[in-house]
Amino acid sequence: MRGFGPTVFAEMTALAQRTGAVNLGQGFPDTDGPASLLADAAEAIRTGHNQYPPGAGVPALLEAVARHQRRCYGLELDPASQVLVTAGATEGVAAAVLALAGPGDEVVVLEPAYDSYAAVVALSGARQRSAALRPAADGSGRFALDGAALRAAFSPRTRVVLLNSPHNPTGTVLTVEELQLVADLALEHDAVVVTDEVYEHLVFDGARHVPIATLPGMAERTLTISSAGKTFSVTGWKIGWVTGPAELVSAARTVKQFLTYSGGAPFQPAVARALDLGDDFHRELAADLQRRRDLLREGLSAAGFATGTPEGTYFVVADPRPLGFEDGTELCRALPQLAGVVGVPVSAFCTPDGPAAAAARPLVRFTFCKSDAVLHEACERLRALRPR
Ligand code: PMP
Ligand code: GLN
Repeated sequence: MRGFGPTVFAEMTALAQRTGAVNLGQGFPDTDGPASLLADAAEAIRTGHNQYPPGAGVPALLEAVARHQRRCYGLELDPASQVLVTAGATEGVAAAVLALAGPGDEVVVLEPAYDSYAAVVALSGARQRSAALRPAADGSGRFALDGAALRAAFSPRTRVVLLNSPHNPTGTVLTVEELQLVADLALEHDAVVVTDEVYEHLVFDGARHVPIATLPGMAERTLTISSAGKTFSVTGWKIGWVTGPAELVSAARTVKQFLTYSGGAPFQPAVARALDLGDDFHRELAADLQRRRDLLREGLSAAGFATGTPEGTYFVVADPRPLGFEDGTELCRALPQLAGVVGVPVSAFCTPDGPAAAAARPLVRFTFCKSDAVLHEACERLRALRPR
């Protein structure tokens, strides 16, 4: 693990705490999830759900995840063999990659990429092959899949494609056409797709999240990963799940046994019930987040940043070059002093010298999963950056 230091999220949250800056860096909501969910977890603690749960997860949650995948996407899963509960999506991704890739194998990753991917590929001993998501030529600011670059990242050694949609940090929700490109290449190279869909319910403006597992021929070769953290605003609970064909889930389960064995006993039954809250719950959260997205985007524009319009997640990527800043990492270190706000440099999601590094260099990611008051305060402060 030489070359890996403290994560950028920890670094930037510590910077915010040290300086009293408004923290729009690390993505965690400043309000709790649904009251029923919190009460169910408290009740589970009070009623003795405090010892090791089964390694694969408590049956109520396995069944609830299967119901959720059927209700939302029409995916049929056997709860006993095709669902695995993990310590957050992070452990799900780790268990999947460690199970499927090793020395001599290659893992295709779309960059910018969530920081745990490069770390877990390194732990597996496999080699990362990156393809960039690039700002679209239409000037919309949307980061789009580059089909030629993706194809070039595949080789006879490709074992796994590590996908993430809705995508952190760019906010791109991959279209069916983009997903089909990935699917075609995975089929052609007999690769497994490991897809991180933690932002599945945080999509805006009528965009639709399509799990790649629903594309023809893909359910058989896809491990789909999600977690309660974003969907129910409980990022500290670390309850995630992996779904897919029994043999692949079994391989991930074998690894997971020796990462954490099991965890989150009182949280699992609570999340199981929350997964049945239904579509209205998800729609309301997405609508509220969309409103806060627009609030932050307007504030960033008023402060002089250029921004796109994220289709999903709770992040906006902002380009500070109109304000005269060329290096997002330097700007993030200075931003508490300059404006009393913390963001995260997009370059932290890129391999140095990788295919996305140059485009990412100036960019800063800000989160809008904060209360209106916090977002207003941040926007007000960011106006200090405007040349007078
Ligand atoms: N994947 C992505 C794309 C994320 O942004 C995050 C962080 N929030 C995670 C995984 C981690 O999820 P969890 O907290 O459930 O481990
Ligand atoms: N996923 C969150 C983000 O992207 C933070 C997760 C973490 O701190 N590791 O901001």
